Amino acid sequence: MSNVRTRFAPSPTGFFHIGSARTALFNWLYARHTGGTFILRVEDTDTARNSEEYLRVIYDSLRWLGMDWDEGPEKGGSHGPYRQSERTGLYREYLQKLHDAGRTYEKDGAVWFRLEGPRRTIRETYKDGDATLDRQVEVVDAAPVVIHDLIRGDVTRAEDRDFVLVRANGEPGFHFVNVVDDIAMAITHVIRGEDHLSNTSKHIELYKAFGVTPPTFAHIPLILKTEGKGKMSKRDRGALIEEYQQRHFLPDAVRNYLCLLGWTPGDGREILPISDIIAQFDLSDVHQGNARFDERKMAHINQQYVRALPPAQIDTKVTGILESAGLVTGATPPAHLRAVLDVVREKVGALENVPTLFAYLLRDDYAEDARTLENLRKKGDPAAKVAALLPALERLAGEGRLVDGAALEAVIGEIAAASDEKPANHFAALRYAVSGLNGGPHLHDIFRLLGAGKVLARLRKFAATAAR
Ligand code: GLU
Repeated sequence: MSNVRTRFAPSPTGFFHIGSARTALFNWLYARHTGGTFILRVEDTDTARNSEEYLRVIYDSLRWLGMDWDEGPEKGGSHGPYRQSERTGLYREYLQKLHDAGRTYEKDGAVWFRLEGPRRTIRETYKDGDATLDRQVEVVDAAPVVIHDLIRGDVTRAEDRDFVLVRANGEPGFHFVNVVDDIAMAITHVIRGEDHLSNTSKHIELYKAFGVTPPTFAHIPLILKTEGKGKMSKRDRGALIEEYQQRHFLPDAVRNYLCLLGWTPGDGREILPISDIIAQFDLSDVHQGNARFDERKMAHINQQYVRALPPAQIDTKVTGILESAGLVTGATPPAHLRAVLDVVREKVGALENVPTLFAYLLRDDYAEDARTLENLRKKGDPAAKVAALLPALERLAGEGRLVDGAALEAVIGEIAAASDEKPANHFAALRYAVSGLNGGPHLHDIFRLLGAGKVLARLRKFAATAAR
């Protein structure tokens, strides 16, 4: 065990998104890499914007992603409580320290932090609605502070304005509680989004005022939208962690992808077990440049993880998904479910698509797909092709050979050749007639799973739609 203590400090004012998850992850990885302690601290001082629902989503998402915290809410620890709303006594004590050191004053009902340095008054313009007004403000020529950032290098900034410690409504302000808690919780590494770099000089001023050596800072790069400029926002597609959970992504796959947002494994592999990531991860290797969110890459990684699951686990997940979609019930014959699972497993990519892609095997009808039908029609009426194939397929069924791949191929090849066409189009027409889709398992597997009776019924029904 090392003395490294990292913390993830979310404010529960919105849904848990990819940027927050990645910040939590880098804190967790660094703590695990160093044998340190990962702390969850809830920054819930903004009572107007907090919600218990958002907080619940944060806990659930962290747990779903396998980021267990060593200290924090619902876990406890020696530096609690871990919700800022429960730490008001401590803030009072720390405020008193600043007060005793002559570093506070009151203005407009709020308590302000007094910067050190020569003061002067300037006029500045500001906007109030449409009007541009001007006012006098006091600025301070405080000595610049240097932030030794593990990722950004040395960053020099100077504060020129006092800032609020406690708001007029009595709620302690972000900078104040953030620093007090990092001190009181003995945090050694503050790992957070680059958007906080602009706050860090204020934080260093507070550390100085408390006479405490600041922790090591590591500001991680932003995550940009898939396309174009700008930071990924909660409204962008794929931004919310909950969404991946609902779409049956595997948490290990999502976590693996998140690791790649701003960090590259040294050994060139992109898909690797978390134990290898923990062994390799270091803050000094986190990129300085921004990371770009790539949903297709995430989907690809997820697919690799799904394919690597032991068959029994895929079956359990697929069964669960089919059950929630109402496609598998107590009435589903176990042997049929078994046979369906065997073909699903061979074809499985994204688990979220399983109900759409396999419903026709579990229901009496299937949903029409206008686009697929339209595409098929470009190569001649598919219903006419099915009608032409029907007598031969009925004969095969009579001989019990409808599920015999070779026999099917021979019959289809013959009939396609008779009208001088490629058999592929006839296969596609049959596939559509029984499934409503343009891809999936082998046709003879579909026929086997549906049974001759259902196959012929669907073929006849579809053939009947042929234009006369
Ligand atoms: N509550 C802040 C946030 O969610 C935490 C900032 C920090 O990590 O210091 O952005």
